[in-house]
Amino acid sequence: MLANVVASSSIVVISLLFGVALLAAWRELGLKRHAMLWALSFMAAAVGHGLRISGGMFPFLEIPFASYACHASVASFTLLAWGFRQRAERPARFVFLFWGLTTIFLVAVYEFGWSEWRMASRMATAIADAVMVAVIVVTLKPRNRAAEIVRWLLAIYGIYVFAVAIVAWLARPGGEISGPLFIVFLSIGTPTGMIGTGILTMLIVAADLARDLKQQAMRDPLTGLYNRRGLEEQLQGFAGRFVVVAADLDHFKAINDRLGHAAGDEVIAGFARHLRQKLRREDIAARIGGEEFVLVLSDTEPAAAEALVEDIRRGVPAALAGAEIGSGTDMWPIAGASTGAGNGPNTFPSIETGGVTASFGLTVRRDGEAFAVTLARADAALYRSKDAGRTG
Ligand code: GH3
Ligand code: MG
Ligand code: MG
Repeated sequence: MLANVVASSSIVVISLLFGVALLAAWRELGLKRHAMLWALSFMAAAVGHGLRISGGMFPFLEIPFASYACHASVASFTLLAWGFRQRAERPARFVFLFWGLTTIFLVAVYEFGWSEWRMASRMATAIADAVMVAVIVVTLKPRNRAAEIVRWLLAIYGIYVFAVAIVAWLARPGGEISGPLFIVFLSIGTPTGMIGTGILTMLIVAADLARDLKQQAMRDPLTGLYNRRGLEEQLQGFAGRFVVVAADLDHFKAINDRLGHAAGDEVIAGFARHLRQKLRREDIAARIGGEEFVLVLSDTEPAAAEALVEDIRRGVPAALAGAEIGSGTDMWPIAGASTGAGNGPNTFPSIETGGVTASFGLTVRRDGEAFAVTLARADAALYRSKDAGRTG
């Protein structure tokens, strides 16, 4: 008896550990909601297992605790499935509906004192849990072979959980198998399933984090465009002919000097927005230096590329004219040698960023050519265009 209780208690501890680990992941990983739901799922599982063990130890608690344990199990599986829906940004209406109906059913069979409430509760719980596993299997998109295997394992787990419902029926009063045999069947898969889903959710959290970091490492934070590393990574998939465009804002030092560095940043971000608006989905835009950009136009004839770039170039002054920089009452100057007089919040007119222009250089990438060579040629074209008057 004692050995049994101690062995069963380890499942409570393991559930709690997963719950705490996922809670830590939730706090560390930018409070992603699904990690919180998964943490709550393992906490609920710990409560459920705890209730079942306590009920076994104290006979006067056995009946209510058996019912509460069913609620905890359904809550645990529901929270797990809800987390998977949340992570996939898909609606969870069905999950809530099934949770609600199962809960009403569990309360009803217990409160009405039906003699076979235990069998009915066990069946309803196992069916609801199996349905939640099915929701997870459907929601999980297999992106690679490992994910495909995980999905199969989850499907097998779902079938086992459903089989628990059948065994609960067979173990009904006067049924084909004895009551303790039901507990044995439940004990075969429950710890494995809990540990398996615990490891799975932790792995997903780690894999998602790695993907986020990789994305961040390839992007420029100011503009959201690819940086040089991201550009190189994207070019891995490019073959054959494509047009490479080098772009650089004109007289940018003067813009910085006149408007300040923050306003300069605003102009850079505005230029990136303009590029994104004009380019097609399959094109790539990258910021490879302060105000230096590279565009890669795939499947484009040189003449069409030239027309597109000419359109972009002509739109630059208008796209950047609207930027309202350095206006408002929440900023004020403090001169270095000021006596203090006149300092304080004030209303400033917005600084005009109109008249900003950019220069471009185009080239066609030759077959088999290293990208650095293509880019050097585009740069040479860019500098020729700067020499020709800094407006193209
Ligand atoms: P040109 O017409 O020949 O291109 O003249 P330019 O003044 O634009 O010359 P260049 O392209 O060499 O100048 C780049 C300047 O951009 C130098 C630097 O002060 C500024 N810069 C570089 N990175 C940033 C940035 O992240 N933010 C801001 N605001 N300015 C930057
Ligand atoms: Mg420049
Ligand atoms: Mg430059």
